[in-house]
Amino acid sequence: MSKLAWAYEAPLRDMRFVLEHVLDAPAAWAACPAQAQLDLETACAVLEQGARFATGRLQPLNGPGDLEGCRLEPDGRVRTPAGFGAAYQAFVEAGWPALAGDPAWGGQGLGLLLDGLVREMLDACNHAWNMYPDLLHGAAATLAAHGSEELKARYLPRLVSGQWLAAMALTEPQAGSDLGLLRTRAEPRADGSLRVSGNKIFISGGDHDLSDNIVHLVLCRLPDAPPGTRGLSLALVPRLLPDGTRNSMSCEGLEKKMGIKASATCAMRYEGATGWLVGEPGRGLQAMFVMMNSARLHVALQGLGHAEMAMQNALRYALERRQSRAPGPRGEQAGAADPIARHPAIRHALLALQAQVEAARVIAARAGLALDLAEHHPEPARRAAEQARAALLTPLLKSQLTRLGFEGASAALQVFGGYGYVHEYGVEQSVRDARVAMIYEGTNEVQAADLVQRKLLGDRAAALQALLGECEAEAGACASAPGLEDFAQALRGQCDAARAALEALLAPRDPALLLALAPDVMEALWWLLSAWAFAASARAALRAEPADAAWRQGKLERMRYGACWLLPRASLHWNRIISGAPALPELHAAQ
Ligand SMILES: Cc1cc2nc3c(=O)[nH]c(=O)nc-3n(C[C@H](O)[C@H](O)[C@H](O)COP(=O)(O)OP(=O)(O)OC[C@H]3O[C@@H](n4cnc5c(N)ncnc54)[C@H](O)[C@@H]3O)c2cc1C
Repeated sequence: MSKLAWAYEAPLRDMRFVLEHVLDAPAAWAACPAQAQLDLETACAVLEQGARFATGRLQPLNGPGDLEGCRLEPDGRVRTPAGFGAAYQAFVEAGWPALAGDPAWGGQGLGLLLDGLVREMLDACNHAWNMYPDLLHGAAATLAAHGSEELKARYLPRLVSGQWLAAMALTEPQAGSDLGLLRTRAEPRADGSLRVSGNKIFISGGDHDLSDNIVHLVLCRLPDAPPGTRGLSLALVPRLLPDGTRNSMSCEGLEKKMGIKASATCAMRYEGATGWLVGEPGRGLQAMFVMMNSARLHVALQGLGHAEMAMQNALRYALERRQSRAPGPRGEQAGAADPIARHPAIRHALLALQAQVEAARVIAARAGLALDLAEHHPEPARRAAEQARAALLTPLLKSQLTRLGFEGASAALQVFGGYGYVHEYGVEQSVRDARVAMIYEGTNEVQAADLVQRKLLGDRAAALQALLGECEAEAGACASAPGLEDFAQALRGQCDAARAALEALLAPRDPALLLALAPDVMEALWWLLSAWAFAASARAALRAEPADAAWRQGKLERMRYGACWLLPRASLHWNRIISGAPALPELHAAQ
């Protein structure tokens, strides 16, 4: 067997299919004056260029970057692996950071739907490298929404262009998920600036050599701030001050970690560093949420990128690697082993990955479209509805795509057998790199609590009711499309279960029990969304031009596999929510 190199073919065809046939994005763009310049051909040309950059510039740096890692030099500067800086310069020169940026600040205004598809490819090819520019959009959006005019004028054009990079400084040793515990202090100075002092840990891109200046958005406390999250304020603290001198902040160390070794994870010390308030005193967390929500969707796309990459490589390997005879019709000479792709166990593994990745792409793209419509649609009611949709989808995507990224990479490693566990085939790096996305940007447990407490119970599930209405309409459309009755039935089953579960959730209940059910709510709703994506994709495949019958057939088979083989997994979660469960017992130290 020849040794297969870890390789990636950007899923451009599937992306086009999602834009054109599943979501009808061109109609949405045409309805929004700010995006009316965007059409399908332009969007696909952007995606092609993005694919070229990801595969040509970033993928060759992925394995070497993992081996080399980052270093903290004696001069206090963090050095990224060879080639990272040049790739970033090329990225900026080609205008990629500005893709979704606001044209008022130099952006191209092409929207978050398109930007998300490009990010999926960048993450698939080099998660660690993409950690550096990944925070730019969120930092710029936070500043645009909450910064003073002076701060906007000074920082926004350079953040939008990518000339300067950004870091998000929340975590402290004692304050992880619970940001109310953080201690970094900010004292007002007479000139209106702040003096920021404290220690932050785990700060991605806190220092590096990709850009001279790094704009830190630091969560901190003003004097006399009340304890807890209500006492938090947000400060912009740049590495270089406006006069070009170094600010009083330094990277004190780099974390040695399991994966994304080429991403600098910094312990930062701010020693009376100069900063400026962003937003109102005591309302830092609200301002920071603009950045965190953007970052959560980007982290979700890291998971999708890993899952696609792992799936493609496992499939190529499975078609080449031969072991044992598989059941079914025999070709070739007697006694010859079959490709492992013919063994039902491996077929299950790969079909499950393909179906989930393709459904996940549809759902993630729907969230990107929701954000674009929330920003640009001329009707206020539609903008509000799309904002609520995006808010509902954010914790679902963050949690479930990062799970898919890690579990997908792990499933791919299993397909490679022992060769997957050794370094040279590349899949073990994906498993290591993908794992962190379940932890940072709000752990997946925190996402589940957010989903139940804020996104469902917060508005008496109004956003979910709207989603259910669309799912039921899709089930109706499939029911009247010849050959799609099984998709209609599968989606209706999920909708009925969701309505019963919603009734149970909205009934008065012990809040502790609701939180105990949060992981089930998360998974069950993800299967509902997947059922919608399987059905909508199948119907779109039938509607699309039958130019390539084999492609259409493959799409239908994968979506049907999802609807028939995967959706039964949802029952466990719906049942637990509907029938309830006894209170969780407390844990005790081991006897
Ligand atoms: C590689 C890497 C990069 C990072 N980059 C950044 C960055 O750029 N900026 C930044 O500010 N931070 C960053 N972080 C920090 C990251 O956001 C935190 O690690 C994360 O928020 C969790 O905090 P913690 O590690 O202290 O875990 P803890 O909060 O101590 O959580 C431990 C466990 O308890 C669970 N748990 C905690 N609270 C709850 C709850 N209320 N409900 C249910 N379960 C709960 C968690 O889910 C987790 O399983 C990074 C971390 C890593 C590893």
